[in-house]
Amino acid sequence: MPAAPMKVEQDLPAAERANGAVVSGAAVNGAAERPLGHGGAEENGRKRGREVTLPLEVGTRVMVKWRDGKYHMVKVIERRRLSAHAPDYEYYVHYMEFNRRLDEWVQVDAMDLNTVETENDDNKDDKGATTKMTRQQKKKIDESHVEEGHEEFDAASLREHEEFTKVKNISAIELGKYEMDTWYFSPFPPEYNNVSKLYFCEFCLSFMKRKEQLSRHMRKCDLKHPPGDEIYRNRSISMFEVDGKKNKVYCQNLCYLAKLFLDHKTLYYDVDLFLFYILCECDERGCHIVGYFSKEKHSEEGYNLACILTLPSYQRKGYGKFLIAFSYELSKKEAKVGTPERPLSDLGLVSYRGYWTRVLLDILKRHRGSISIKELSDMTAIKTEDVISTLQALELIQYRKGQHVICADPKVLDRHLKAAGRGGLTVDASKLIWTPYKEGGG
Ligand SMILES: [Zn+2]
Repeated sequence: MPAAPMKVEQDLPAAERANGAVVSGAAVNGAAERPLGHGGAEENGRKRGREVTLPLEVGTRVMVKWRDGKYHMVKVIERRRLSAHAPDYEYYVHYMEFNRRLDEWVQVDAMDLNTVETENDDNKDDKGATTKMTRQQKKKIDESHVEEGHEEFDAASLREHEEFTKVKNISAIELGKYEMDTWYFSPFPPEYNNVSKLYFCEFCLSFMKRKEQLSRHMRKCDLKHPPGDEIYRNRSISMFEVDGKKNKVYCQNLCYLAKLFLDHKTLYYDVDLFLFYILCECDERGCHIVGYFSKEKHSEEGYNLACILTLPSYQRKGYGKFLIAFSYELSKKEAKVGTPERPLSDLGLVSYRGYWTRVLLDILKRHRGSISIKELSDMTAIKTEDVISTLQALELIQYRKGQHVICADPKVLDRHLKAAGRGGLTVDASKLIWTPYKEGGG
């Protein structure tokens, strides 16, 4: 095992930039779901006794009692009447300290109205509390509030994103034997606007408003696995390749479904340009979708993965890692290096960092003699920028005597490998039966 530093034959500036973004994202998102305690309580006294006009305006900030029993500051994203003729409203709120997937509807009785802060506090010339905010005011709120995990967005695209995705529409789905709570807005067709739960056929991914419709569908649906070609089978695990052009409806349904659990991703209506790789657990009843990733048929930027998702009921079982590893196995077959499309979701980023760490450090641990970044990249199909950013984040690259070197102390490698966790389900490349996509080919 070489304790001596190995030479790196590549310059660093591009990856240093990439590295910065990746590290900050991971750190922020790691803490996203942890309640951070009660901030701003000291303001209660100051505001006490002031009149609050109901209903509250969109953009208002107020403390709301959360499921941890503590009060947390929220921003009101949307409001609606509790029923058509009721005078009372409920409010869709974003908890300032938490990830957007915890946004939810709350009622006034969960709020501490003494803590209400409106934008109008500073704009007395406004035409009263019921007036809609001016665009300028709205802009001000949005710009003063660039949330955790959103650093990669400029203010304009963030506004657009928030406007489009502000309210979760479907709150739960049924898929196969699972019922799952959803995390984010998904742009289902308008006729699904007023349903809170959708029923999916787990094989063709058709979705329905009522359970009886699904039961009727299941009696006549003849699919028992995703459409397309089975390109991998290992025990009860299968992967199917589905062409967005040949199976348009299936792939569009998959996108609607996936968006319920993915933030920050443009939903591609133009599924023609993509291949979808569907991971299934198979038994005597059929092949049950666990997750998927999509991949552009032709990527100018060298992306080997566009969207990746493990459905919530299958998370924490190593399937996300399996999908990432699988995407690199495809790249190896294509004899290309690849990288995931940016921005990555928070969960995606954590998984990728773990994957890169495990793969690269496993090689460094076993390797004797010097090795270059380029060689590491060729062996793994991991793009050089990602190799460098991973090693930099682990502080395994140092600048010594005018050269960048990998400092691969075996003890340090072991420590990092342990921290990265094990890879879970492994991809057996010998079981992958696949030829790269060719336009017009089979
Ligand atoms: Zn079906």
